Amino acid sequence: MKILVINCGSSSLKYQLIEMDTESVLAKGLCERIGIDGSVLTHTKTGCDKVVIEEPMPSHKEAVQLVFDALLDSNHGVISSMDEVYAIGHRTVHGGNVFTDSVIVGEKEKEMLKEVSDLAPLHNPANLLGIEACEKVAPGKKNVAVWDTAFGMGMDPKSYLYAIPYELYLKYGIRKYGFHGTSHKYVSGEIIKLANLPEKEVKVIVCHLGNGASVSCSIGGKCVDTSMGLTPLDGLIMGTRSGTIDPGAVQYMCQKLNIGIDECVDILNKESGILGLSGGVSSDFRDVGEAAKDGNEYAKVALEAYRYRVAGYIGQYVAYMNGVDAIAFTAGVGENDIEARAGICSYLTYLGVEIDDNANNVRGEVAQISTDNSKVKVYVYPTNEELAIARETLRLVK
Ligand code: AMP
Repeated sequence: MKILVINCGSSSLKYQLIEMDTESVLAKGLCERIGIDGSVLTHTKTGCDKVVIEEPMPSHKEAVQLVFDALLDSNHGVISSMDEVYAIGHRTVHGGNVFTDSVIVGEKEKEMLKEVSDLAPLHNPANLLGIEACEKVAPGKKNVAVWDTAFGMGMDPKSYLYAIPYELYLKYGIRKYGFHGTSHKYVSGEIIKLANLPEKEVKVIVCHLGNGASVSCSIGGKCVDTSMGLTPLDGLIMGTRSGTIDPGAVQYMCQKLNIGIDECVDILNKESGILGLSGGVSSDFRDVGEAAKDGNEYAKVALEAYRYRVAGYIGQYVAYMNGVDAIAFTAGVGENDIEARAGICSYLTYLGVEIDDNANNVRGEVAQISTDNSKVKVYVYPTNEELAIARETLRLVK
């Protein structure tokens, strides 16, 4: 049984076709420059060289058509009929207060998606374009929306409410939602399987550290708290995002720079984080790491502030859960940055966390990096959001 997973941006579309019997990727690819001159599809059949197809894609519909053409192609294709695709799973960003779980998308759901699009004006409309394109190109096939915010909907009011007038929550849904939910759910679920403890009680902290970054804590797979908020700007220091900042500082920035709130939030989203703290070295942790090794003091402070903030969230979440069984690192930095993991864990000795330096010398693969004596197990666990979306899709359509 094959599931097509689609992740649509406003001018791009990523896809994977997954064979669910073996959970293996049959083919994957990326359409770029949709709606712009020079559209290109890069398609890779697993085990083969990539194929580059340059064809006009004035809209997402042509892009989805080209994806199906590539999947059906007699040379680089992997299916002989569209019927082989059982359903389509879509990464959808913001489900607002209305979507607490993945959903099969019909007319009503599309209207609801539009209604919550104010909360993610860059992402939700693009996600909807992808769904509508699939409806046109593959009529009758079920489309499932898998929300980035769904995992965070498991939080209790004490976690998700902001201490602002309550009517603002009631009227506009202003609350913490959290993002990267598909990744947090997937990794915490896999860690629960590894932990060998009673499933419903396992306390897990997942550090999803990529260019965007968030931490979550969950008990038995139910989200207790997570670090992103109404938007993905909250929480950890990220590649270019500031993470948590005093709203008073935002007002002061507006005054001093003589700019409006939109421009200020742009600075917080695009010019801050590791990029801003390092004095503009880079938003890429590898570059900042190199600069720090070369003696750049800003880069050194940026990396230490980053690790300190992650460790701070872990400490907070241990308190919220009254303990922790396992901590997992995932995404680009979490999976690959050996020094970042060691640095973060150096703040956690009070928890009895003990890292095995040899075991931590690992990149991009599942590994236990804590010693056998460590009171808390620490893992590297590569995330796989596409597989998680495919599993969700199958769960709903089966
Ligand atoms: P993601 O958003 O999950 O794709 O992660 C992207 C981030 O992972 C970038 O900031 C990269 O610098 C970081 N990254 C990838 N590989 C490494 C590595 N070997 N060491 C440090 N950071 C890395």
